Amino acid sequence: MTRFWPLACIILAALVPWLPGMPSFWVTLLNYTGIAAIVAIGLVVLTGIGGMTSFGQATLLGLGAYTTAIMSKYYDISPWLGLPAGLLVTAAGATLIGAVTVRLSGHYLALGTIAWSVGLYYTFANLDLVGRNDGISGIPPLEIAGYRLIDARMSFTVIWLGVLLAALATMNLLDSRAGRAIRALKGGAVAAASFGVDTARTRLLAFVYSAVLAGFAGWLYVHMQRSVNPTPFGFYQSIQYLLMAVIGGAAHIPGALLGAALVTLVNDRLQDILPKLFGARGNYESIVFGMLLIAVLQWAPDGLWPLVARFRPRRRAIQADAPRLAAQTMPERGSTLLEVVRLRRSFGGLVAVNDIDFTLKAGEILGLIGPNGAGKSTIFNLISGVDTPTGGIVRFRGGDLTGRPARHVAAQGIARTFQHVKLVATMSVIENVAIGAHLRGHASPLAGLLRLDRAEDARLYAEAARQLARVGLADAADRPATSLALGQQRIVEIARALCLDPVLLLLDEPAAGLRHNEKAELATLLRRLRDEGVTILLVEHDMEFVMGLVDRLVVMDFGTKLADGPPDVVRVDPRVIEAYLGSVE
Ligand code: ADP
Ligand code: MG
Repeated sequence: MTRFWPLACIILAALVPWLPGMPSFWVTLLNYTGIAAIVAIGLVVLTGIGGMTSFGQATLLGLGAYTTAIMSKYYDISPWLGLPAGLLVTAAGATLIGAVTVRLSGHYLALGTIAWSVGLYYTFANLDLVGRNDGISGIPPLEIAGYRLIDARMSFTVIWLGVLLAALATMNLLDSRAGRAIRALKGGAVAAASFGVDTARTRLLAFVYSAVLAGFAGWLYVHMQRSVNPTPFGFYQSIQYLLMAVIGGAAHIPGALLGAALVTLVNDRLQDILPKLFGARGNYESIVFGMLLIAVLQWAPDGLWPLVARFRPRRRAIQADAPRLAAQTMPERGSTLLEVVRLRRSFGGLVAVNDIDFTLKAGEILGLIGPNGAGKSTIFNLISGVDTPTGGIVRFRGGDLTGRPARHVAAQGIARTFQHVKLVATMSVIENVAIGAHLRGHASPLAGLLRLDRAEDARLYAEAARQLARVGLADAADRPATSLALGQQRIVEIARALCLDPVLLLLDEPAAGLRHNEKAELATLLRRLRDEGVTILLVEHDMEFVMGLVDRLVVMDFGTKLADGPPDVVRVDPRVIEAYLGSVE
């Protein structure tokens, strides 16, 4: 997504209502499109990027709409004050609702949004204060310098300025530390958590942000329409908003504009055509939209926008001279860093990790080897907080880490890579790497939205660039992460882990898929890291690679430790030869 195109489209669109001979009916339609586009942009963040489906967006719009309607109609408060009030009420409402809903996953989340939106809808429809089903009418329009914006062309300017603001704010947010965390949620929540992202809070952030945009749209709607009733805030309307995001291309802001325009237009045409076709009034549109949705999901599951523009990650200049981020103090070389005591993990009847003990001294490279299924990756998950032990203790720098969540483990200076690479496909290599530095930045989402985070973000980016250069992938910085060969993607994961400024690095089969000379480069890098004081725990199958690199080996088979010692000793251990070399040549 580039900045230029959405801006150019919006500026061109701003001129449309002033074209000679433009019927005001079309301008009104464009106004509805703009309002819908703002809601759809929120859904891009929530659904397309955050991976959470909401069937309640229209109801959130209703919260903003009713707030400003009540204030301006009954309390004579200026609509301009209704804006912050509406946003505040929507944000507060969404925080309450979201705190419960976004913890649900998959279909339950979608069902949850239906539940509260239906509840709120009937509250609007049955509350005397808001006029029950009749709603509120005679709401004052917006006024600028005493001029009442009643004309559709005037509203157009305000509404599309709103669209522009929403699009810009959203692009800013997505390009910030908080935004990268949101983008990391879809498909990569485990990886995000392993770099300190509070995934529950990040999901809530996406939800509240999308709600605030809906509330903003509600405010625009009320003062353009000058009346409200519950109908536009119901379930059917929510489906339409979702449809806009999906048809346009759920992960793209310009897609939201495209989807909003298409659905608004088609909806308007259908209301003309369908009654003539069926000879009676009814909700036939929902049938057509249902079929449309199925067709899109069948033939263009990523929506229409990717057919218009191919995904190209945004390029961003690196400020190489940005001041460096503060670095950890490394523990004293040779001191005990990590203690694993009788660590155990069973999956039903299978004991994947069977009372394993080992320690790791600061500044050493320890190899963890064993045949496939021995329990190595499970140990990584138990140490890094991705999984919880059934028994035993993990101690790090004297503190108890047993069963602590991944983001807490990350905050202690433990970074990891994954055997099954976990990079975000819709982010560039450098953006993925920058997620590793999440805990080294502090900018709030609001700062990101307002671009107040640029100095800090430049430092995070410069750090990501430095680590990429360190692993030899500087040239790949702006490529989509998953366009690299799998072996290279593992190296990207190492760069991301290095961005955390780790005291302990857990590498799960980092050399898999690398060519001979690439393995040699990796070994050189790991030795250099050790020299700098980083401690490394390494799982690897390539024995030549392991034997030449590690200070010590722990050998496992079927969850149990077979041997522990220097490579020369372990290599001649008869139990190891029998169990390990018996199954892998
Ligand atoms: P390794 O990394 O040494 O190849 P793993 O730690 O991935 O081995 O797996 C050890 C054993 O635990 C395997 O038998 C695997 O099938 C099992 N296992 C791993 N994770 C799970 C899980 N989440 N649920 C059930 N079984 C699992
Ligand atoms: Mg494994």
